[in-house]
Amino acid sequence: MKFTKFLILILFIAAALVITSCTAPIKEDKSKSEPSISPAEAVVDEKKETQEENVAESESKEVEIDMQKVKPNENGKVMILMYHGISKEEAEWVRTPENFRRDLETLYNNGFRIISLKDFVNNNITVEAGYTPVVITFDDGLLNQFNYIEQDGSRVIDPDCAVGIMEEFYKKHPDFGKAASFYVFYPIPFRQKELIKEKFDFLIANGYEIGNHGYTHENLGKISMEEVQKSLALNVVSAKKYINDFEVFSLALPYGAAPKDENYKYVVSGEYEGQKYNHRAVLKVGSNPAVSPNHKKFDASKLPRVRASELNTAGTGLYDWLKHFEKNPQERYISDGNPNTIAIPEDELENINQENVQNKKIITYKRQ
Ligand SMILES: [Zn+2]
Repeated sequence: MKFTKFLILILFIAAALVITSCTAPIKEDKSKSEPSISPAEAVVDEKKETQEENVAESESKEVEIDMQKVKPNENGKVMILMYHGISKEEAEWVRTPENFRRDLETLYNNGFRIISLKDFVNNNITVEAGYTPVVITFDDGLLNQFNYIEQDGSRVIDPDCAVGIMEEFYKKHPDFGKAASFYVFYPIPFRQKELIKEKFDFLIANGYEIGNHGYTHENLGKISMEEVQKSLALNVVSAKKYINDFEVFSLALPYGAAPKDENYKYVVSGEYEGQKYNHRAVLKVGSNPAVSPNHKKFDASKLPRVRASELNTAGTGLYDWLKHFEKNPQERYISDGNPNTIAIPEDELENINQENVQNKKIITYKRQ
């Protein structure tokens, strides 16, 4: 096996020396290619490489995908799922542990992979080719989202709380990815007073985000602009008591409510008694998937969420959208597997915001 690989490498180098006409490789993610290859090899026409030796794939991740097979659409829609409680009885704002597990399983089996809200907003989507990113969020900092219990004299995470379920699922399916944003308010996020710091530390250390949900869950649409800023700034002040250098990245609007018109800007950034906040993303309550961060309609200050519920969703719950994407697969974000390129059907080009694309290379293909 090793000898075969070596032989292929030799062939590779020989090919590189022989071929004089060079085309730029489509994928340029050199940091990820496993073996170090010489610059001469890097400019070899990729098509030739793949035709000559399929094994080249194991030598370098800079391999072209079959557009018609993968059908990437990196301008498609992404679901940001909104959860509240995880508890024994299913209700409008509560998922049972069994149903939450089923949601994760269903997403996993239907080609979804979890990314953080931060990576979504920063357009740093690294899921494998052919897969669709999905973001998970929890509002209100409830005990059943993150609960420590005593077991045989030691403290463990309740296997039926949201964090317990996600950790367990990730152990079984590490390729699913692991991330979620928890939008908490004060004074006692997750409702175990003496364990707040421990929980915050765990969340940050394990790739979760702690977000702003107001100081005491105020309705930001019904208070003065000073009170709006006070509510949002005091949430940050409170989080900082537990986490050094805490920087709040995003806000989930309590009740989905916000000040109107030009006053909306206060949910994005503001200041109260010297404490500033600057949310890079603001999440609403309802009710549809978000457009891609490459899309000209992308607005991080007004991101819609899909309710992860099966009750009273009025056709806009998680399973409704899954059915919708099954019928309309062309609407779904499908990754090309390379975070440095944006692969889209050519008819999507007019919906791209070049500024959001940053310095990524856009690749188009004809839909068939
Ligand atoms: Zn809430």
